[in-house]
Amino acid sequence: MMKRANLHRSAKVIATLGPSSSSVEVISRLIKTGMSVARLNMSHGTQKGHGQLISDIRKASEQVGLEVAILLDLQGPRIRVDTLPCPLVLNEDEIWAIGPAQIKLEYPEYENRFIPTIYEGLVNDCDTGARILFDDGLIIAEVNGKEQDLLEIRIKAGGVLNSNKGINLPDSSVSAPSITEKDLEDIKFGLKNGIDYFALSFVRKKEDVIHLKDIVKDQSRDIPVVGKIENIEAIERIEEIIDVSDMIMIARGDLGVELGNHLVPAEQKKIISLCNKKGVPVITATQMMESMITNPVPTRAEASDIANAIWDGTDAVMLSGETASGRYPVETVRMMGQIIQEAEKTPKSRMSIKDMDLGRLEDSIMIGASLIAEKIGAKRIFSVTESGSSCLTMARFRPLTSILGISNSLGVVRRMCLYWGVSPFYLDEYNEDIANFEQYVVNKARKACELEEGDMVVIARGSGKFFTGTTSNSIKVEIIK
Ligand code: PEP
Repeated sequence: MMKRANLHRSAKVIATLGPSSSSVEVISRLIKTGMSVARLNMSHGTQKGHGQLISDIRKASEQVGLEVAILLDLQGPRIRVDTLPCPLVLNEDEIWAIGPAQIKLEYPEYENRFIPTIYEGLVNDCDTGARILFDDGLIIAEVNGKEQDLLEIRIKAGGVLNSNKGINLPDSSVSAPSITEKDLEDIKFGLKNGIDYFALSFVRKKEDVIHLKDIVKDQSRDIPVVGKIENIEAIERIEEIIDVSDMIMIARGDLGVELGNHLVPAEQKKIISLCNKKGVPVITATQMMESMITNPVPTRAEASDIANAIWDGTDAVMLSGETASGRYPVETVRMMGQIIQEAEKTPKSRMSIKDMDLGRLEDSIMIGASLIAEKIGAKRIFSVTESGSSCLTMARFRPLTSILGISNSLGVVRRMCLYWGVSPFYLDEYNEDIANFEQYVVNKARKACELEEGDMVVIARGSGKFFTGTTSNSIKVEIIK
């Protein structure tokens, strides 16, 4: 299997799976329609349910004949409302109390105006005057005063509050550990079930990402980590976080709540540009096709949002509720693919290489290979890659020629599903002793790439002592006979 290698667009589509997409049949259709990466959101559902999804994704991928990567998104230090016996109606200007559920009985004066939270550190973290936002910022409160174990808050914008809704603290520094007990269990689960990427929510500093990478490394595993940018602290330390992350996600949902939606577009552009400069892939996420949760077509504004993310230089775009719980998961992926394809027909100018952080041998080889491919009108660039790293380097130059990422590791092939402009190709039988290596690879991939006599292919790979390393050191042009 995995012998199809045609790609009609370069930016990748990530789709979150959930009740609307939890069957082999729907997942197969999502893959056929253009989902390259399936995201499991550990903030919802159970490990048992996610385990079933992982097995369904692999089954669907086998049936369709295309690999997909699985991105396991860890909940991180998400603060929530605890379970409520019934929804609470919060009205403007009312005074309420918030604190851990178990202290309620100690404060009978707040008996009918008490919001329980799962987060024990809330009282310490928030000062008087700080905002407390509930339910994606739809309900706004401000700290009015402090008792030993609870905060007294004044409601600024009211609403109905339900169990387990998220809480954001945009004016406070959250002291909760970046990786919770639940995350540790979910990391173990992910490693056991062969996921391809971890995403870490609410990253606040580079050490948060390094911590997760160390946990993975301690298990003798190498799984790339996506740092999710979704609060002000992460924005303030964006460069150091990009520098230690394998990928970045602009998690515009929480980012909009914490920062204010009016500031998100400029931050999106800044983060994408920084990631492009540093060669770190970036995912633009959340509410890209929100109206398609209930409607069969997106709004014009949503179509523009996706196209603009492509023109900003994003590597991938992500769907959440649209595919997890919406009525039209397959149609949404199809529509997103069409918008990407159209946007890519009128590309914005590529980042100049003089504005990129470069310097490694691999950078020069890949710039060379992509320029040669463009100048000679090659049909494909083949990047033979041990770890995926050289293929990723190629992708950052945004070559106009599509890239075939060839690897003999299934894990690397799956990882490459998220790389901009790359069709992954699994080739298990190759080794250094093959006489004409380039010709051999071309023969193997010729059919999948629909190559014809006279077509040219540029092949970048590591040869000699670079054969098994992470660096390519050679470029060769083959003409199809
Ligand atoms: C977001 O907040 O935009 C996001 C992607 O994170 P989550 O879906 O985990 O809230």
